[in-house]
Amino acid sequence: MKMNFATANRPEAIDSQNWQSWHWQLRNSLKSLQEFSQWFKLTAGEEQAFQQGAELFNIRSTPYYASLARAQELDPIRRILMPHAQELSKGSQGLFDPLGERKNNPTPRVIHRYPDRVLFLITDICSVYCRFCTRKHFTGAEQAFIRESEYQNALAYIRSKPGVREVILSGGDPLTLSDQQLDRVLTDLRKIEHIEIIRIGTRMPVVCPMRITEGLVKIIRKHNPVFLMTHFNHPREITIEAKMAVEMFVDHGIPVMNQMVLLNGVNNHPAIVQALSRRLLFLRVKPYYMFQCDPSEGSDHLRTSIEDSLAIQKELWGTLSGLAMPNLSVDIPNGGGKVALVPDFLIEASKEKRTYKGWDGVTADYINPCANQIFKPIDASEYEAEWRTTQLAKESNPDLTNQLLRIPTKERLHSEAQSR
Ligand code: SF4
Repeated sequence: MKMNFATANRPEAIDSQNWQSWHWQLRNSLKSLQEFSQWFKLTAGEEQAFQQGAELFNIRSTPYYASLARAQELDPIRRILMPHAQELSKGSQGLFDPLGERKNNPTPRVIHRYPDRVLFLITDICSVYCRFCTRKHFTGAEQAFIRESEYQNALAYIRSKPGVREVILSGGDPLTLSDQQLDRVLTDLRKIEHIEIIRIGTRMPVVCPMRITEGLVKIIRKHNPVFLMTHFNHPREITIEAKMAVEMFVDHGIPVMNQMVLLNGVNNHPAIVQALSRRLLFLRVKPYYMFQCDPSEGSDHLRTSIEDSLAIQKELWGTLSGLAMPNLSVDIPNGGGKVALVPDFLIEASKEKRTYKGWDGVTADYINPCANQIFKPIDASEYEAEWRTTQLAKESNPDLTNQLLRIPTKERLHSEAQSR
């Protein structure tokens, strides 16, 4: 099928040069009831949300992103950007800090949850405040870029952890920073020898694609390897403008991956997920994660059940190319980390074999080889020192150490066989 992409509906009253300027888009963001009313006929629930706005997460949308929403109250894009009175109720779980980031926050603006990577929250500003946001407790709170003292302390922390190999720039949206600010951050990170990979998590290609300029992409490219993590949630977000933005990254050798969130009434249907994933893949963007929505305060109306998500994924399995298939995962609340959710095709298991029934009904056994023939690669020790540096980043993990010691080598298997 030929992929068609539409352009955003710029209102005639807005000059095209202004519309194409990301500074104009940010300066003219919709924030108040009056501003939103110029674009949408607000429902009673939406008006109530604005009236009790002080109790809500920040509200903001670029005119560009607002132009993608349709008039119906239940339009998927409207649900992402429009506050609603339903947010005023905490919800069934309603967590202030669903990912337990405050427990893993060794210095302001740094989240260190996994041994080999850190999140660096360089700004709390976003150009759109998505109603499902996980980090509501932080995002849009101060509406500010990182303070100099916090910035220096964060760099010092990352410098002091040789096991950290990857820094994920997040926030807020790092691409709300100016080119100069971003270049400075990337330059400072590249001075840290043990940092191998930098990721930039951003919604700007989705909500303000005019931010992606040749100049910005060239700055990022100087600091390769840098991965761009986008957050497209619905196929209608992939406009011609967004297409050009992500293609500019890919054409400059910057890999782009997408993390979507399964959202109630937005994309919780296999037809929507496949349409999004196929379009992204066509643009050379790898659909990477499909997250279960985190139970942050006031997000119940946007969450799906895990059963609903698994059913969607099961329908996609086998029919959607593996390249287009995002990994369905849930973040265990309170900082438990990610868990992959995969359809269960197992019928029965024993020590010798497992029996599976595949996505289209084929049933077969997988029979294990003899256990005493299995050994680990004889050159594993050459890589163990490198592996162990990861563990230095956090306190040592005794379970992992034990696993390493338990690796059977060919020599050990041989001497055990001889001693039998
Ligand atoms: S862009 Fe990301 S951080 Fe900002 S509000 Fe949306 S989901 Fe939250």
